[in-house]
Amino acid sequence: MKAIIIGAGIGGISSAIALENKGITTQVFEAVKEMKPVGAAISIWPNGVKCLNALGLGEKIKAIGGNMRTMAYFDYRHGSPLTQFSMSPLVQRVGETPYPVVRAELQNMLIDHYGKSRIQFGKRLATIDQNREGVTVTFEDGTQAQGDFLIAADGTHSVARPYVLEKALPRRYAGYVNWNGLVAVDETIAPASQWTTYVGEGKRVSLMPVSHHRFYFFFDVPLPLGLAENRETLKENLKNYFAGWCPAVQTLIDTLDPSTTNRVEIHDIDPFDQFVKGRVALLGDAAHSTTPDIGQGGCAAIEDAVVLADILASHSLGIEDCLQRYQQRRTVRTRDLVLKARKRCDVTHAIDPQQTEAWYQELRSETGERILAGMCETIEGGPLG
Ligand code: FAD
Repeated sequence: MKAIIIGAGIGGISSAIALENKGITTQVFEAVKEMKPVGAAISIWPNGVKCLNALGLGEKIKAIGGNMRTMAYFDYRHGSPLTQFSMSPLVQRVGETPYPVVRAELQNMLIDHYGKSRIQFGKRLATIDQNREGVTVTFEDGTQAQGDFLIAADGTHSVARPYVLEKALPRRYAGYVNWNGLVAVDETIAPASQWTTYVGEGKRVSLMPVSHHRFYFFFDVPLPLGLAENRETLKENLKNYFAGWCPAVQTLIDTLDPSTTNRVEIHDIDPFDQFVKGRVALLGDAAHSTTPDIGQGGCAAIEDAVVLADILASHSLGIEDCLQRYQQRRTVRTRDLVLKARKRCDVTHAIDPQQTEAWYQELRSETGERILAGMCETIEGGPLG
């Protein structure tokens, strides 16, 4: 059995590894000539880590993961803690550690494990054809590839999605801009092994420890779509948006390197229930595009890969039957993640300012119990419990 996989992102390569582990031949095609991850880093929560463990990548993710022991929310003006607590109850309950990782390191780890030379770069999917025997894809350069089935992990702007759904779906602007990057750990900005978030005015500034004594940082600001901002204006823009915020936030803005800081207008897509058409299956952001507000988009792509490979290895009624089972298993879970992230997004970014103010007040009496319980529920909803 041979699978064609479109996209060498987290979803595509995780699928390739998962399928090969089950004895299924894969061929991966990637549009770009060189991978350049959009974001600086990503948190792999224990549901994602358990799936990586199942793929045989447990030691490798641990080796590139940051050490995140505590979690805290700080008041934006004074920089004083609203709440601060250990993450070990979460680790104990779910039985695995979360790992914030530099995105390029995660991407390289996955690609190296699969074998970089086996990926065909510069192959942009243009069209898909299928019949009862298999699938043929045509790339923009006119070349073709054939397989028994197709996994389309071609991201949020998926070309395969309108083929599967027979209509285009609009992306929805979530109402805020995110800037993200890496800086060396500086304890005047935040404690070295803590996930720290400064909150106020519907904005946030967050720092997560990644490997080699670095922080992954991000800023969120509710803003209209399409502002004329660029790298040249980046520090000035952030200084304006965060005027009056505490000295730690000002130090972070002074320290960051605009040339390696990303600016992303955050979008998602309304959840839908069709991931599969015949022998073609959508996977990862192509199937469920979410805001990053609960840090689960990449984790969900890895979950998809593990579930799909398990179904293909354990059912014998044919590929189309297996893909239908994959769809059944994944639509409910991923709808839940997209909608949870959207809800969290709205509270964090003051879509309803009163609700956001109530959340700031709640944080003052938070012991960690409620926040960790919510995170555990999301994690335990994954395919490996
Ligand atoms: P992608 O990573 O987008 O990969 C798709 C690949 O397909 C790309 O390499 C692309 O070049 C290729 N491609 C596209 N079109 C074609 C074509 N026509 N032909 C061939 N190849 C094609 N998730 C988490 O789990 N934790 C986090 O902390 C987190 N933080 C985030 C922060 C931000 C700011 C953002 C924007 C996202 C975050 N996410 C996070 C979400 C996560 O990045 C995505 O869910 C994840 O990258 C999806 O992987 P994917 O493989 O489905 O898609």
